[in-house]
Amino acid sequence: MQPLRGTKDILPNEIIFWKHIYKKTSEILSLSNYFEIQTPIIESTSLFNRSIGNATDIVNKEMYNFLDQSKRNITLRPEGTASIARAFISNKLYLSNKTQRLWYLGPMFRYERPQSGRQRQFHQLGIECIGSINPMADTEVIRLANLLLLELGCHNHRIEINSIGNIEERSLYKEDLTKYLTKYKEDLDHDSKKRLTINPLRILDSKNKKTQYILTEAPLLENYLKSESRNHFNCICEYLNNLNIKYNINSKLVRGLDYYNYTAFEIKTDELGNQDTICGGGRYDKLIKQLGGPETPAVGWAIGIERLLLIIKNNIQIKQTSINIYIATQGIEAKKKIWDIIKILEQQKINFELDLHNSSLQKQIKRAYKSGAQICLILGEDEIAQKSLTLKWLNKNYQKTILNINLIKELQEIN
Ligand code: ATP
Ligand code: MG
Repeated sequence: MQPLRGTKDILPNEIIFWKHIYKKTSEILSLSNYFEIQTPIIESTSLFNRSIGNATDIVNKEMYNFLDQSKRNITLRPEGTASIARAFISNKLYLSNKTQRLWYLGPMFRYERPQSGRQRQFHQLGIECIGSINPMADTEVIRLANLLLLELGCHNHRIEINSIGNIEERSLYKEDLTKYLTKYKEDLDHDSKKRLTINPLRILDSKNKKTQYILTEAPLLENYLKSESRNHFNCICEYLNNLNIKYNINSKLVRGLDYYNYTAFEIKTDELGNQDTICGGGRYDKLIKQLGGPETPAVGWAIGIERLLLIIKNNIQIKQTSINIYIATQGIEAKKKIWDIIKILEQQKINFELDLHNSSLQKQIKRAYKSGAQICLILGEDEIAQKSLTLKWLNKNYQKTILNINLIKELQEIN
């Protein structure tokens, strides 16, 4: 049996990296008063149709949709923000606190062509700062993305930022952009041709050389921004300058989700080849209202953990703890009595491995050496007869037999 295409097992020797990311993230984000939230992996399909947008790649071709037993349309969540906006509304979080700072880490699902850094089940770590229109909120989340990446050992990243304005500004721009691009329709790449009618802004994102060349003369989104949008963007840039956080303004940066307005940003790295975006985010002031909640501005981002791991895995040193005590038993009685000793080891918080093979003591001790344990605890027939046990130091060629009642004292000395 093989796992489904685009899915991966995370084995014990990798879990340590995941735990590291989780622990560091939780430490850093809780300092800024962000609280962890977990939402269901399945949601109504309509949640994503209504938020991410019907013309986007995600909704168009990447979603895992199915009908449940009662013929409800269900989707495995492709991203986190829509679910959090839904949770904010269903739990009336707005009643308890005007600003909600939330973070999440969990699996997301998109039907894409699997390749390095692109899976069908992947994981995102994200934050959402809900309830503020202030450019300080945008600055706070960008600063936290940068800080987290640095703290996790990702140093060669660059921040790209843009303002995509509000709906009115964007729709005027869309009209002009479409007019301009229609003149070159025949020269556009296949995807861009299709996008011309359904989602022209995404053409700006095209990696096709010819399309990019055509775009050099295209109208610029920034020329369509009015003073409110401009001021918001300029403020963020100024704050980032003050913070000494480097960024590039990329006037062609648009995100693949419909709910963004004003700020859009991405964090990229040179270390990953084609899948070079590790973090994507932006402001979404209309989403919560659009889903039936009160008008609530918000801004957030998501980092792809698998891509992050490709970069930082070699930079983090994590000490693997080896076991302290390997337990070897001999005879029927020992196999009954050993549980009393195990209870003591647990109480003393000593980590141990019980040999489960039905083999000779000699073979068990051999395995004890292989296990890397410090001590082999032997409970054989002689020991049972004398109410004792033997402790054999595996790297010292030394052993002693002690009475059971002295075990706790002995362990405290070892610890
Ligand atoms: P991409 O350009 O790779 O398609 P995206 O714009 O679709 O990314 P977002 O929806 O903004 O990505 O998600 C944020 C981050 O989640 C991405 O920057 C990336 O690190 C990660 N990510 C997105 N899709 C995948 C995937 N299929 N496999 C692994 N990571 C992913
Ligand atoms: Mg994508």
